Amino acid sequence: MPLALELTPAWQDLKNKLRSEVGDSVYAVWFSCLSVCSWDGAILVVASKPGTERFLSERFGRTVERCAQAALGDHVRVAFEGEAAADAHKALRDAGRHHADPVLRDQPFVPRYTFDQFIIGDGNRLAHAAALAVAEAPGAAYNPLFLHSSPGLGKTHLLHAIGNYLAAYEPATTVRYTTVEAFTNDFLAALHGRALDQFKELYRTVDVLLIDDIQFLENKLKTEEEFFHTFNALYDSGRQLVLTCDRLPVQLVDLEQRLRERLEAGLVAHLAAPDQATRVAILRKRAEIDAIEVQEPEVFELIAERVTDNVRLLEGALIRIVAHHSLTGRPLDLGLARDVLDELYPPVGVHIGAQHTSPKQIIGAVAQSFSLSADDIVSSSRRAKVSWARQVAIHLCRELTDLSLDQIGRNFGGRNHATVLHACKRVQERIIVNSDDAQTVDVLVRQLAGHQADGDS
Ligand code: ADP
Ligand code: MG
Repeated sequence: MPLALELTPAWQDLKNKLRSEVGDSVYAVWFSCLSVCSWDGAILVVASKPGTERFLSERFGRTVERCAQAALGDHVRVAFEGEAAADAHKALRDAGRHHADPVLRDQPFVPRYTFDQFIIGDGNRLAHAAALAVAEAPGAAYNPLFLHSSPGLGKTHLLHAIGNYLAAYEPATTVRYTTVEAFTNDFLAALHGRALDQFKELYRTVDVLLIDDIQFLENKLKTEEEFFHTFNALYDSGRQLVLTCDRLPVQLVDLEQRLRERLEAGLVAHLAAPDQATRVAILRKRAEIDAIEVQEPEVFELIAERVTDNVRLLEGALIRIVAHHSLTGRPLDLGLARDVLDELYPPVGVHIGAQHTSPKQIIGAVAQSFSLSADDIVSSSRRAKVSWARQVAIHLCRELTDLSLDQIGRNFGGRNHATVLHACKRVQERIIVNSDDAQTVDVLVRQLAGHQADGDS
């Protein structure tokens, strides 16, 4: 029922999110005629201008998917009309995981999150080996397996890899992937709809339960209780549990002691940030998968030098450079990479010491550049010029200081961290598509960098 979806607020919401993610001009060029080809509650197949699908899928596929997930649910996968859509359906069908329970549905695995596509380095060797061992012999190796790391280091990727592996090699094994958020929603829906038995059946009868982002269980008393019982039911009958978290079990201070102890009972494996060689390997793989042709291989080295502790951001930097290349026609070489990275991640030599540039200095410089007052910048005015200047100043605080989002927000009249993030995103989008804006920001960066070089004048 594609049309039905197009009439819903969720579709509007998706498009609005996409517009704000990619920026008005990119949206106008590529997505103004975005439409729904098919929608079955799990896979959304979209079309845009004829002939652009491959390009859009490569360049913006993940962005569109992220927006679709925000609007329609975490489990949603997006494909562009044509090959990719057929592939996504096939992958799901082959995996035998596509059943249409209207309330409680499996989250399908992301096809590209496989062991094959996971690059091993010193930082993640143990976690990878443990995940693979679990996939090969669920319930027998390490139980539970608890993977923890800071964001963007491959936890979700490994969870899906276990699911993809089992779907491919042990189709009789039942596997369920869920995020704590989906688990919570399912649980509350079941409570509400008096479907608790169905809920229990669903979660307590699988051979392998993969649960992502367990930290979100904190402060959800009822759900935590239910999760504890689910955990025990599975564990006691020899089923495999794999959990991910952004922290160690002991650091989950808001969880009950008894659950923390359960989480620690198996293998706790940490994923550390990849080293330079691993980062380069990840970028090469990414480029190979997305058929990105880089003119100079040193581009990978350069990106890996600048973006060091989050693979998501590492891949994001590559995608940003590629986007620049497709929008401006500049070759995908070191010059382009350097220009884009200088904006995103100033090189060490130019990097402005956190303590040396204060929000006040940044606000002052931005105000001057836009012929406004510092008060205008932090005011609540929504005049286009003022809010653009404010967004630039917020962006610069993010790039040039070590302040947290909330701390930055406080310097701008008590704005919250979502507003800060939004501002940063807007600036990053505009400087990709508008060279005047890029130059304005560039000049400010140089000026503030010079400020530091001159001493604190
Ligand atoms: P986390 O769940 O820890 O926040 P993800 O699993 O979502 O991180 O990883 C973020 C992105 O980085 C994903 O696109 C993932 O495929 C990629 N990634 C992370 N680690 C690796 C790796 N070792 N090899 C290849 N890709 C990786
Ligand atoms: Mg994750």
